[in-house]
Order: sequence, then structure tokens, then C-alpha cells
Amino acid sequence: MKFETRLIHGSHSIDPATGALSIPVYQTSTFAQKSVDHFGKYDYARSGNPTREALEEAIAALENGTHAFAFGSGMAAISSTLLLFQPGDHLVVCEDVYGGAFRVLTKLFSRWGLTVTFVDATSLDAIAGAIRPETKGIYLESPSNPLLKITDLAGAAELARSKGLITLVDNTFMTPYLQRPLDLGCDIVIHSGTKFLNGHSDVVCGFSVTKDRELAKRIGFIQNGFGAILGPQDCWLTLRGLKTLKVRLEESQSSAIRIANWLAAQPQVKKVHYPGLAEHPGFAVHNRQSSGPGAVLSFELESFELTKRLLEGVELAAFAVSLGGVESILSYPAKMSHAAMPPEERAARGISDTLVRFSVGLEAPEDLISDLGRFIAA
Ligand SMILES: *Cc1c(COP(=O)(O)O)cnc(C)c1O
Repeated sequence: MKFETRLIHGSHSIDPATGALSIPVYQTSTFAQKSVDHFGKYDYARSGNPTREALEEAIAALENGTHAFAFGSGMAAISSTLLLFQPGDHLVVCEDVYGGAFRVLTKLFSRWGLTVTFVDATSLDAIAGAIRPETKGIYLESPSNPLLKITDLAGAAELARSKGLITLVDNTFMTPYLQRPLDLGCDIVIHSGTKFLNGHSDVVCGFSVTKDRELAKRIGFIQNGFGAILGPQDCWLTLRGLKTLKVRLEESQSSAIRIANWLAAQPQVKKVHYPGLAEHPGFAVHNRQSSGPGAVLSFELESFELTKRLLEGVELAAFAVSLGGVESILSYPAKMSHAAMPPEERAARGISDTLVRFSVGLEAPEDLISDLGRFIAA
């Protein structure tokens, strides 16, 4: 079945208990048991809840995985998954990783003895060069945030496998509609479901997905043991949002392509970062491993004054943190997603004070362009 059919039909689509076409919100913390010897499938809702299970099965199926685990945020998914490693282990991480992931690695996991080397992951040689005897994993985002850099995921996974490492990919920007890292040989896919998967800017959630039985067992143990689970109401909202993933992303992507081309033609725009533009250095690799450039782009303006005027003046796009919603969002990585990164680290990664990230929503692209056009005059 095609992806859009699988969004609607699957084990998440009909409540097995009643036949309801929407899995109910099982708002319960515990489940009554009948036998002392054998507990039922559900006993305590941290360990399992039918609404959460429906969502987890849906996400696992869409990523072509076998197991997905829902967490209370993307960061909870990332942090819980990182508990697969132990003190003394080392990770190779793409340098323009999401700011929150940078923060948790350098401020919390570092205290616990997990060490990290940040590399320009557009180069497999750079990844290979950072691998040490104690390296246990490679952590990637492609496209990365906020510069939309591309990593050859199949190449990285192959390299990792040859060294006995696991590959983790944050697939938030692409979603399984556009890119399925498990099919490319990666071991774990992580999501901030807050973004495109839920898509309506009303839930914070995250996922960790795998098709490796052993890893699934260990992540399941962490999910239950560490306890950073997603509540049933948010699972239900995410299940509802998920059903329209294809139509939302398709529409937003086609607007993003138009807007990226328009921006690239404006003299006040110094650079547009978007893997849908042929001049993007990762264009060929991205096309090979995904089926579209997505709906997030970033661009650099000629001055800070213009950047400030644009961010404070736009009317349609919200000036806000986050992305992937039905409403367009303009954000300012230097003070938002990457505020957790010290200024010198940001500068080294090319996240300048004139860089703006644009998550294209479902408004008409001509309206979005005319809104931007009030500041970025041709
Ligand atoms: C937002 C985001 C996260 C963090 O997710 P939360 O749901 O905000 O905790 C992680 N990775 C990427 C790429 C993101 O955009």
C-alpha cells in the first residue's frame, strides 16, 4: 500500500475494543487485573497504554521499523535513546545538530562521562576521522538544522556498521513520507513529533524507532524505566494530526520550493539553504536518499537591521520557535533553536545573526511571498 493509504489504514485506525474509527483516549493510569499469575497486556500506563500503543505502531510502520516508542518531547526521545550508551562511550555527532541535542550532550551527558566529537557530516571522511576505539555511535541530522546540510546516510550507516557502531538519525525535517533512514541502513530514527508528524502546533512529543529487535528491547526498557512517556491525550492528537501528513507536507513543500526560488532571486538575500535548489551542495545526495526537499529552508539576509525588521514585521508567518505546523513559522536560530550554543560555536558552524529559518505552512505561497516582499524588496 502507498504511504498515504498507510497513514489512514493500519493497526492505529480502528479501536479493537469497539470498532470506533478513532482510537479513544484511554485516560487511565492503571488497568484492573484478573489473575495473580498472569497480568493482562496492560498493567500500568507508564509501561503501556492502548492510545500510545496505536500511535507507536503507526509511527513504526511508517518508518518501516518494527518498534516505535513515544516520549513526552523530541528531547525526551533523544535523551532516553542516548541512555543506550554508557559512561566512557564516545559519539560522533554532526556539527549543526539541533541546539537542544547539543545542550544535552555537552551539559548533561558530558557530566555522566559520554564524550562527543562534532564533525562536518557532509564529509564521510570527517566522520571516519573522528571515530576512536571507544566510539559507539554516529548521530546525524539530514537535512541538518538550521543550515540544511546533507549527510550521505547510507554511506554513514555502512561506515558505522563496518566499525560496529550504531547510527542514529533525527528525521524530524523529512518525516517518513520523504525519507526513511532505516531503509538506508541506519539503526535508530528519532523524531520531534512536535513538528510535521503532529503538524498542528498543539502537541510536544517525540519518538525513537528501530527495526532491530535487540535495540527495541533496550529502548523499551529505557522508556519504561526512565519514564519520559507521552500522555494519552497527546497521543490521540498526534494520531489525528498524522493522518494528513502526506497532504500537508506535499502542499507545504510545493510552496517551499516556490518561496526558495523567489528568495534566491532577491538581491537582499545573500544565500538560501534548501536542498531543493540545484546549487545546494548536497542536492544530488539528498535526491538519492529522499523523495523531496521538505518544507523548511533558511536564508541569510544582507544586514542585521533587515533581519530584525523582517522578523518583527511579518504578518502571516508567526515569529516563533518550532516548525512543521500548518501555520508558517519564521524563526531566528541564533536566539531560538541554537540559543543553547555559545556564540563562538554558532559562528564556527555558520549560524550567523542574519540567518532566518522559514517553516512553510499551508497558506497560499503568493500571500507568503507578498508578506516577505514587504521587507525583502526586489
Ligand atoms: C524541535 C526539534 C527537536 C526537539 O524536539 P522537542 O519536541 O522540541 O523536544 C529535535 N530535533 C529537531 C530537528 C527539532 O526540530
